Amino acid sequence: MITLALSKGRIFDETMPLLKAAGIEVLEDPEKSRKLILPTNHANVRVVLVRASDVPTYVQYGGADLGVTGLDTLIEHGGGVAAGVAATGLYQPLDLQIAKCRMSVAVRSGFDYETKVKQGARLKVATKYTTIARDFFATKGVHVDLVKLYGSMELAPLTGLADAIVDLVSTGNTLKANHLVEVERIMDISSRLVVNQAALKMKQADIRRIIDAFSAALPAYSSASK
Ligand code: AMP
Repeated sequence: MITLALSKGRIFDETMPLLKAAGIEVLEDPEKSRKLILPTNHANVRVVLVRASDVPTYVQYGGADLGVTGLDTLIEHGGGVAAGVAATGLYQPLDLQIAKCRMSVAVRSGFDYETKVKQGARLKVATKYTTIARDFFATKGVHVDLVKLYGSMELAPLTGLADAIVDLVSTGNTLKANHLVEVERIMDISSRLVVNQAALKMKQADIRRIIDAFSAALPAYSSASK
């Protein structure tokens, strides 16, 4: 049995065409079903639905053989960009180029971020992505006090909880609606295929077939990451 961990929503929806390219069709709609384990047209392939931030954990500990997860989630899970495979044992064969967005710093419109940073002021930064934020500001040599939040980061600068936020930005509409402006782009984010290394060894032929089919279905520009 091959188990693929996905999160509902954008990652699930955008992974479906890749699965189809591998000849795999999920037989139930997660939006209409309460089931957490979804069968596919292959008796030996199933999809498990988990919270986005739990995908790396399921794959790392073998609850799933492979999964699709955002680079942001992967970095936070692994304790940093550099830690990568060594820390988690997760093999990352493909950048799937889906759920693309960017990790950015945003502040209240009118807040003079540049001057504050130049003056060496201590910034209060609210974020769910504390590892990414800590690494980014440490590299810049900016002193920050991090405030960990689990949701609605946009509210933090508006209520005085923080000077800035570090969050995912896609269209920029959420920032705009809350009178926030993007002042720095930290990194581009997309979703990655992650594979349990032991599963890759023990179920090599089946997992390789899926990796190769995903890879062949990706746009040509991502071939550099293969
Ligand atoms: P937007 O208004 O399009 O810039 O989207 C911003 C909101 O959507 C923020 O709350 C983000 O946390 C969330 N978001 C945007 N893109 C993604 C993504 N690829 N994965 C997860 N969350 C995202």
